Amino acid sequence: MAKSSVLGYPRIGAEREWKKALEAFWAGRLEESELHAKLREIRLNHLRKQQEKGIDLIPVNEFSYYDHMLDTAVMFGIIPQRFAYEGGIVPLSIYYDIARGTKDATASEMTKWFNTNYHYIVPELYGITPTITENKPLLAYREAKEQLGIEGKPVIVGPLTFLKLSKGYELAETDAWLDRLLPLYVRILQELENEGARWVQIDEPILVTSIDINDLRRLKKIYETFAVSVPNLSIMLQTYFEAVEHYEEIVRLPVKGIGLDFVHGLTGNLASLRTAGFPADKVLGAGLIDGRGIWRASPRDKLTLLEELEKYVLPDNLIVQSSCSLLHVPVTVKHETRLPERLKEALAFADEKLDELVLLTKAVSSPGQAEAIAEDIEQCEHALLALKLSDERNRSDVQRAVAAIDTQHPRRTSAFAERHKLQSEQWQLPLFPTTTIGSFPQTAEVRKARQLWRKGEWSQERYAAYVREQIDTWIKIQEEIGLDVLVHGEFERTDMVEFFGEKLAGFAFTQHGWVQSYGSRCVKPPIIYGDVAFVEAMTVEETRYAQSKTKRPVKGMLTGPITIMNWSFVREDIPREQIAYQLAYALRQEVEALERVGIGMIQVDEPAVREGLPLKEEAQAEYLEWAVKAFRLTTCTVRDTTQIHTHMCYCEFQDMIGSIRDMDADVISIETSRSHGELIQSFEETTYELGIGLGVYDIHSPRVPQVEEMTAMIERALRVLDPRLFWINPDCGLKTRGTEETIASLRNMVEAAIISREKF
Ligand code: GLN
Ligand code: ZN
Repeated sequence: MAKSSVLGYPRIGAEREWKKALEAFWAGRLEESELHAKLREIRLNHLRKQQEKGIDLIPVNEFSYYDHMLDTAVMFGIIPQRFAYEGGIVPLSIYYDIARGTKDATASEMTKWFNTNYHYIVPELYGITPTITENKPLLAYREAKEQLGIEGKPVIVGPLTFLKLSKGYELAETDAWLDRLLPLYVRILQELENEGARWVQIDEPILVTSIDINDLRRLKKIYETFAVSVPNLSIMLQTYFEAVEHYEEIVRLPVKGIGLDFVHGLTGNLASLRTAGFPADKVLGAGLIDGRGIWRASPRDKLTLLEELEKYVLPDNLIVQSSCSLLHVPVTVKHETRLPERLKEALAFADEKLDELVLLTKAVSSPGQAEAIAEDIEQCEHALLALKLSDERNRSDVQRAVAAIDTQHPRRTSAFAERHKLQSEQWQLPLFPTTTIGSFPQTAEVRKARQLWRKGEWSQERYAAYVREQIDTWIKIQEEIGLDVLVHGEFERTDMVEFFGEKLAGFAFTQHGWVQSYGSRCVKPPIIYGDVAFVEAMTVEETRYAQSKTKRPVKGMLTGPITIMNWSFVREDIPREQIAYQLAYALRQEVEALERVGIGMIQVDEPAVREGLPLKEEAQAEYLEWAVKAFRLTTCTVRDTTQIHTHMCYCEFQDMIGSIRDMDADVISIETSRSHGELIQSFEETTYELGIGLGVYDIHSPRVPQVEEMTAMIERALRVLDPRLFWINPDCGLKTRGTEETIASLRNMVEAAIISREKF
């Protein structure tokens, strides 16, 4: 009989109780023992829920006090020397210091977990002799068994993935590092085996990326070692997020089970299965339910797929599971009370996905129950159909417009050189114009005002008047500081995606749909569920007001189509490309509206382009092509004299420079400080011949940068960039900064610009 399983369950809790507990502990409002008790309660609740729903193989040890990569590093005593660790069980204080930094020691780097919006802490191997500090999987296994009688499936980050995602060693040392880690992994697994554990899930998502022949050799060594050392443990070698490369080598490894993603890796994995079959002595972990998407699965489609899988795998050797950990979706749809009913009916968050898994498993395992199941299946198909046929998904006006756009190659009327000339005449800006990225400090007062307005305690008029006051203040400040191109400050926005989503058609917002982004930080992505459409001007009022208060140019400020898409949950019935074009078409109407009221500079932010990059290299070019096209669609209809700006954060730039050039923005501003000189260096190898502002100071710290630091930075940049195209701006928006430090920093920045101009 087939079994059901999940690869991991969200940590944060339906009410974000996990986040709240962590933050209370950090703030000193919770004792360490209270934190342990609280997190234990949350953990057990989650296990109990899966047990009650009827999941056969329940994961343990995917729960974390912060991040699972950090847990793995800490388990092996991999603690950077600057945190003064002295051996033994790692104190919780050190655990959190690594993640969050201290006054004297910077936090470990954090980076994206594959192509998700989850961020993990990057282990630093440099100078460390690894050793086991505590067998966390064993403790988790024991707890589930003792407390709830659950025969849990410990989840562990696999050695190859762990090594490949770590830093602080040379490529040539990889084998030496593997030799150090492998015996530790073996001990962890042996203790689990001795304890009576049956299944362990060893996560090796690295296998869906392009790994070379050396890594394949290492992979064999790892799993052959395990086969000999823990013969009684059933290892599920788990992959996710895409189809595996080297399918035939992987399914030959001496493990009990192979876990494949049949949602995000469907085409590739199915093709492999069809050509190479599946070993008769192995279990297939069939990732059928999307662990990253929020939509209910069509049971009919899934059963058809299962039927095909059963051609290659006996039902007894089948585990029906989520495609990846449910970490990436919110907890439950149950408490949502404000979503359109049709939408709500078509959603499945983590808890609903548990039901889906159980239902599918029943459907393949017990034909006897067919009737009871048939009703559930009908109900689901009905809900999906209703959404499909809804007006929101069938706006012929949008679809017609986008279909027409689709065939065009959007471009500005003139090429950059010509536009640059016209814009220079039009704007008469000094050499190295100074500007900012858009937002000014979102003070407690600003946030309070918005809250009052949202709660209805402040009228729309009162709130709008308050925002205008802020704009007044900051226009004066900017003039007084001497900035050349001003902004209105984004005081009316909480968030650069939500603000637009709330004003466009096709979006919905959950009340509780949080997912973990990194550490205790959670995000609540909007849902793009219908055709996206422009309803009314979104930024014109504030921008026009700001412009009316000054003679200097005020930049309009929009979030770009790709960023809005990548930071939302999106519908899956049409290609992402089409969603991007719908967004572009809607945003273009905003760009045009701004231009109509006399705004002559418009910035379209695209900090999240990189986040949508497919894992498979061969798919990246196509994505970038339509992403660039969406940006150009948004911005191409303006006059030559209208200056289009864009902004990105640094990691976007170096490896995408070709695509960025293709965006054809008159001016781009990018973050520079976190790249440690690499960004500037990259201009030695390649030229960039459009307007560009390399951030001259880091906005992540309250520190006020000195004039000399910034002139040095400018000088360095001008060695590789054309001075006539160079702008001076901070790294990013200033919304998280305090008022005083912002003013002081910008004063120094303008001073640095003046000094630099004199030298030219
Ligand atoms: N205009 C936005 C701001 O200044 C850009 C933010 C971003 O790049 N993430 O806040
Ligand atoms: Zn930025």
